[in-house]
Amino acid sequence: MTSSPKKRIALLGSTGSIGRQTLDVVAANPEHFEVEVLTAQNSAEELIRQAKQFKPNAVVIVNEEQYTTVKQALANEPIKVFAGEQALGSVVQMESVDLVVTALVGYAGLKPTIKAIEAGKSIALANKETLVVAGALITQLAREHRVNILPVDSEHSAIFQCLAGEIHNPIEKIILTASGGPFRGKTRADLAQVTKAQALKHPNWSMGAKITIDSATLMNKGLEVIEARWLFGVQAAQIEVLVHPQSIIHSLVQFEDGSIKAQLGLPDMKLPIQYALAYPQRLKNSFPRFDFARYPSLTFEKPDTETFRNLALAFEALERGGNMPCVLNAANEVAVAEFLNDRLSFLGISEVVEQCLGKLDYIREPALEDYVETDKMTRIRAKELIR
Ligand code: NAD
Ligand code: MG
Repeated sequence: MTSSPKKRIALLGSTGSIGRQTLDVVAANPEHFEVEVLTAQNSAEELIRQAKQFKPNAVVIVNEEQYTTVKQALANEPIKVFAGEQALGSVVQMESVDLVVTALVGYAGLKPTIKAIEAGKSIALANKETLVVAGALITQLAREHRVNILPVDSEHSAIFQCLAGEIHNPIEKIILTASGGPFRGKTRADLAQVTKAQALKHPNWSMGAKITIDSATLMNKGLEVIEARWLFGVQAAQIEVLVHPQSIIHSLVQFEDGSIKAQLGLPDMKLPIQYALAYPQRLKNSFPRFDFARYPSLTFEKPDTETFRNLALAFEALERGGNMPCVLNAANEVAVAEFLNDRLSFLGISEVVEQCLGKLDYIREPALEDYVETDKMTRIRAKELIR
């Protein structure tokens, strides 16, 4: 094969867990990828280090108080330095960018993702919150601009890989696997006692704090159900969650003849990241290989939605539709942040989400301004509930 030109990448959230692993993939494949943009919220030192190593065209430090630090440190480099939230929306539109990796966390991903799609950039989407908040709007925009949204989330990457070559074959069902998190098998009485430190210890994956808590409450799986609905155009009733504690089968697709395809591998985010970056190619790598003989039993069980209310609440929000998933997301972001600040109990997280879902006004076909307003009002409401 002749060498294709390098893909030029804008990496939003480069200092986070997905961001750093994306840079590992880029560093291992310099003939395929080049970094155009790096961005971070607060981590100036890490951003500076990355910029010196990867020599992007531009960097953004979102926290404006850190601007001078970054600017001075990169004064001798041919790198543009920007600060502030707005800058994220401009750098993704730069002429030289081919692919935008959304590795930033939370609602903050929404606006830059919209800007990137409007500029016709391919999206490698890790930031699932964007599709939870405004899946209808984002997927419609992607269709209009003929933009590919390539999943980075391991489950969605698995489904995407299972769908290769199946373009004309309808999906009967998606089976989304879940590890069950650190509290699998616990009762509500047990959960009333759990600590932040316990919640931050995921059995199979090392990730940012927010998604780690979401994994412990099963909200992560709820967000992923909504993400799958939009990425693959299926209805809520076609999505089944299956607890699989070993995290080897990353998800499955059942077709109309009853045949099921699965994607397997060791739990390592670098594989789905690399698949999204190199798509439709598969690149050779030396990641550790899965060995069936070392895993004599792969086990499966139904999720316990009585104990882990968040998963049921996410299905409810998806079925109600409109701005309800946006409410779910905003309430959860506030509740998780307050839990991490020791101001809310573990069980309090789903209580806040449930109350917000019952209290915010329903909007059936929200426009962007409605999502922005819903997010804002929900955050106010959630904070009132916690105080
Ligand atoms: P993280 O907390 O480790 O990193 C977040 C990154 O985003 C950092 O670079 C941070 O500087 C930046 N950031 C934080 N808040 C921001 C804001 N308000 N505006 C702009 N930038 C901001 O998070 P992570 O674990 O890497 O997760 C990133 C996204 O990927 C999340 O949406 C998560 O759900 C998704 N995801 C993560 C994993 C994983 O293994 N970590 C797996 C699947 C999906
Ligand atoms: Mg996942």
